[in-house]
Amino acid sequence: MGESRATSWGQGLRLRLGVEGRRVALDTLGLAALERALLVFAHPDDEINAVGLVCRLRRAGVQVELLVLTDGAANPWTDEAVVAGRSHLACRTDELRASMAILGAEGLTMPALPDSKLREHLVAAIDVVSQTIARVRPGLVVTFDARGINGHPDHMAAHAAVRSALHTSSTSPALAMLLPPPPFSWALGAGFRWQRTPTVATLTLEGDELEAKARAFEAHRSQQRTLRLLTAGLPPRTFFRHFPHEWFLWLSRDEARAWADDEASR
Ligand SMILES: [Zn+2]
Repeated sequence: MGESRATSWGQGLRLRLGVEGRRVALDTLGLAALERALLVFAHPDDEINAVGLVCRLRRAGVQVELLVLTDGAANPWTDEAVVAGRSHLACRTDELRASMAILGAEGLTMPALPDSKLREHLVAAIDVVSQTIARVRPGLVVTFDARGINGHPDHMAAHAAVRSALHTSSTSPALAMLLPPPPFSWALGAGFRWQRTPTVATLTLEGDELEAKARAFEAHRSQQRTLRLLTAGLPPRTFFRHFPHEWFLWLSRDEARAWADDEASR
């Protein structure tokens, strides 16, 4: 136990420094064979983090579906002028569908669990993730790392729901977990601990992918005030041009199954 704790401590530090694991270019991972990908996130707009991955999956002919667990209705900085009398859920669903159209993602499941309270509804979240995996039978599931990329409790709950669902799933998809690349990893850290060394899949967004990411960002019109905080006030095209990388902890089908079943690494 002491040894595994020391191992995971070192792993966390190396992830923070961006030197943990076998770093490979995403495009070398045989994306076409995945056939279907399911993105499991907490909020409508979380998919912005994975636009590069979605672009590469679509280009490889992979279908991309989304499961967004909460209703996205708890942000006090939502722009009411954009909401324009709709419910927050209706507004944010419209914005998410606009983003999905830009990305070529089709198929949205939105159980509308309460935003900012996902941890209190973890059993329901696990249930809907399990049902959606059983229906979609994805070759790849994409979600947050254990720290939720920025420590947001809903993001961490989405990660926990995916892990529990994979544990009981009859299918064994590969798993990609959003990981903040350096320099963000230095501040945000990364939540992964396992006795095995993970693969870290990397990609650098190119011209049309950067544009897609900026347009997906802008599609969430009611959330611009919050989203601009994440880009330090910079316009998205400027920010993404300076930080064009996406990193994912990447577990193969066999690794994802073993990791989900491994109680010792929880
Ligand atoms: Zn979020």
